[in-house]
Amino acid sequence: MPKRDLILLALEDTTVSLLMQRALHAASYEVAVAQEPSAIEKIIQEAVPALLLISENFGGQSGIRWAMEMLERFPTMPVILYAGVDSLSLCKQVLQAGLSGYLCPPLRNDDIVQAVERSLTHARRVGDWLRREVKKTTASLEKRAELSEAERKRFENIFSNIQDGVIILDDQGCIQFVNRVVSSVFGLNGDCRGRPVIEVIDHPDIYTLIKRAKLVPLKYHEISFDDGRIYNAQYTPIEGVGAVITMQDISYLKQLDRMKNEFVHTVSHDLRSPLTSVLGYTELIERVGPLNEQQIEFVNRIRSSVESITSLVNDLLDMSRLEAGFDARREVVHPENILKFALDTVEGQLQLNGLSLVTDIQSDLPSLRGNPIRLRQLFDNLLGNAIKYSPLGGTISVSLRAEGQQIIFKVSDQGPGIPPAEQARIFEKFYRASNAPAGVSGSGLGLAIVKSIVDAYQGRIWVESVPGKGSTFFVVLPTG
Ligand code: ADP
Repeated sequence: MPKRDLILLALEDTTVSLLMQRALHAASYEVAVAQEPSAIEKIIQEAVPALLLISENFGGQSGIRWAMEMLERFPTMPVILYAGVDSLSLCKQVLQAGLSGYLCPPLRNDDIVQAVERSLTHARRVGDWLRREVKKTTASLEKRAELSEAERKRFENIFSNIQDGVIILDDQGCIQFVNRVVSSVFGLNGDCRGRPVIEVIDHPDIYTLIKRAKLVPLKYHEISFDDGRIYNAQYTPIEGVGAVITMQDISYLKQLDRMKNEFVHTVSHDLRSPLTSVLGYTELIERVGPLNEQQIEFVNRIRSSVESITSLVNDLLDMSRLEAGFDARREVVHPENILKFALDTVEGQLQLNGLSLVTDIQSDLPSLRGNPIRLRQLFDNLLGNAIKYSPLGGTISVSLRAEGQQIIFKVSDQGPGIPPAEQARIFEKFYRASNAPAGVSGSGLGLAIVKSIVDAYQGRIWVESVPGKGSTFFVVLPTG
């Protein structure tokens, strides 16, 4: 007869233990005997028994307590309690604790085997029921998956008829679906389902979008075509699916933007020459004759106003040049040298405002391919803001370090900070935060220029700031 289930005996009375072993062996059960508590764990680690038979007390602890601990770990394991003396209250405790049986003298072999068999049969039934339920639930889930196939068709129908381009990718970057707009924009023919998107759509901007999406949280990129069309593509990762790329045609908006930039560029350019002559004449006035105190005061005011308009016009011109993509110059630049020059230039301003400067500049930074003038402008604007918005005697910390394929520039100050709701908006043109100190002048273009420079390098910029405590601006530029 083949050996049957393993029964674990944990009984304090050795005579009773021997009796039970004999009865169970005779009924072909395998028996493991634990003489002390630590043996229980050892036996369980080798093979989980089908049933535990434990005495009212074992190893100085109540058998019911042992049984409950065991049920915590193996909820479907039947446990039988053996009591030396039959007692109604113990019987009640056995039921309350959820044990499956109760044995007490006189102990006949048949009683022992029958109690074990009853408990095992019940446990088997519970096990079978559980398996059936799991199967039923799995089947209903599979059915729902079939339903989602119908839903998929409905969604495909909707996506096919919308004006935006839609590409659905699986988590391997393979195409699951492209709508009509995408097929016509990229001239796709035939079924491309299951093929890697970068193989099917051979466009450098799509490649860049997907590559960037793995590095940066903001995942959009412009897709330009030779015929002048421009799409704004957005990459959205979707858990359990992969990702979706959506594309909107922004050619018309781009054209309007170009017209506006041309207008701003022309006006700013034309404003520069008269401003230069006004500035020149304010200097000449002082030379042609002695001025009284009031006249000197007025000339100074004219000069300071003209200087601030000139700086605004210069910012506008820079902005329009950057937006028009006239910043194509690329050469090998060493960012640490550019930053050191920028820091040398602001030394006077730091002293004037009693500011301390803490620097952490890595010496062996990798070089970048870029425009040194724009990089200098990036450092100047961020340092300039840190100085401008710092309280007298504050500390400014600057760090420039490499991490992987990126260079990270960080500048912190102890200024007024920026309200959380406005932190994303300060990079917009002309936006000034609501808590910008009244005495601090500015055009609201400095950060927009920095953002355009960072974007041109496929980098990232963001701010972490606590109002009343200070701000830290981060710039990440890829070196690869
Ligand atoms: P602005 O010429 O006004 O300084 P920016 O574009 O450089 O223009 O900055 C936009 C706005 O962001 C500022 O007006 C200011 O409200 C906020 N800001 C920029 N830098 C800081 C800073 N270091 N601390 C506090 N606020 C700042």
